[in-house]
Amino acid sequence: MKAMKLQKPKGTQDILPGDSAKWQYVEGFARKVFARYHYDEIRTPIFEHYEVISRSVGDTTDIVTKEMYDFYDKGDRHITLRPEGTAPVVRSYVENKLFAPEVQKPSKFYYIGPMFRYERPQAGRLRQFHQIGVECFGSSNPATDVETIAMAAQFLKELGIDNVILHLNTLGSPASRQAYRQALIDYLLPMKDQLSKDSQRRLEENPLRVLDSKEKEDKAAVEQAPSILDYLDEESQAHFDAVRRMLEDLGVAYVIDTNMVRGLDYYNHTIFEFITEIEGNELTVCAGGRYDGLVEYFGGPATAGFGFGIGVERILLVLEKKGIELPIETGLDAYIAVLGDEVNEAALSLVQALRIQGFKAERDYLGRKLKAQFKSADVFAAKALITLGSSEVESGQVTVKNNQTRQEVTVALESLKKDFPSVLAELGLA
Ligand code: ATP
Ligand code: MG
Repeated sequence: MKAMKLQKPKGTQDILPGDSAKWQYVEGFARKVFARYHYDEIRTPIFEHYEVISRSVGDTTDIVTKEMYDFYDKGDRHITLRPEGTAPVVRSYVENKLFAPEVQKPSKFYYIGPMFRYERPQAGRLRQFHQIGVECFGSSNPATDVETIAMAAQFLKELGIDNVILHLNTLGSPASRQAYRQALIDYLLPMKDQLSKDSQRRLEENPLRVLDSKEKEDKAAVEQAPSILDYLDEESQAHFDAVRRMLEDLGVAYVIDTNMVRGLDYYNHTIFEFITEIEGNELTVCAGGRYDGLVEYFGGPATAGFGFGIGVERILLVLEKKGIELPIETGLDAYIAVLGDEVNEAALSLVQALRIQGFKAERDYLGRKLKAQFKSADVFAAKALITLGSSEVESGQVTVKNNQTRQEVTVALESLKKDFPSVLAELGLA
């Protein structure tokens, strides 16, 4: 048999123990912050019908034209792994009739999970990556835009990421966008030859996308492009002004970035990104905006929508590069050093008794020398060290040591099994 290449697919990551603690912390932290804003979790499938994504994210976007992990299943259905979270959540919202009058509005959902895009892998850009996202349905109040942006800002700040800049723009109403689209075409057409191949195509299909291009020649070309802010109708202007005013009231700093259009087609009015800098490169850690037409597009009643997605890998990358430590508790409450095979069962009984009392406990299983076992207690950052040998079992008395201060107490084995907290308290470890 020929040796197989048993390696993970390009652009994927194994999240190993140790690292997974950071993931859990970030995810748990998001759950905690989002709960304060009255968000509930929604879990949708990891794959969807291809059209759920292609028709909503946009047929001409990079995501749909280049990055989809799609296939035909054994029943010849066109399926895709989800590349983003909003379209699936909107699909679910409509399919489950969560727009019904008896459901409280606005409805606020968050999701956490893997997304899939066939991209060129690099730092902070993977083929399986993970998003923490939120969607709020049923409020066109600009206060919803602002509180949702403020929630992202709070999440980032409390996590310790404080060097992010909020970039804000508006796409206005469909009518404003249409007027701007024409102005942009008029501006770009004379310099078509200077644009990248992709952007020459975008100019035909979806000219706003040119603004979003990462190619140098496109960036230069759009530098003097007309601004959407000059094409807003009254309603769009009022919405944008209200968002700006309320952000200022809350003390959420932002910059206006009229060349930011976002990678998906379904947005209108407010769009935003939180951008940070890593080793001279801009990195978007959170992005989102308003999508008032999307629920209707999926066959539901006209319903306002607002949401964002946070890239978890990018959050972890920023934390790592900035040397920000997460307050993760990994240490054991107790480690039991086991002296001799004859106390194997007594050690099992003791370690279980501690776990049943709710403590994190570990023991030696391998009959190693005491010195090696003590080393393990240190590596595991055990607060208390218990040594168990046949003399302890016979006398029914064990010594428990504070592994930091070396202070010791001797207690009855049976009371240790029943009441570890008072032993910890005696050692100053409670
Ligand atoms: P970019 O312009 O960087 O390609 P995007 O506009 O395609 O981003 P969104 O679809 O808005 O990104 O996704 C929201 C967030 O998810 C991004 O801001 C980023 O933090 C993260 N993200 C997107 N694509 C990837 C990826 N391939 N790998 C890791 N994180 C990603
Ligand atoms: Mg992208």
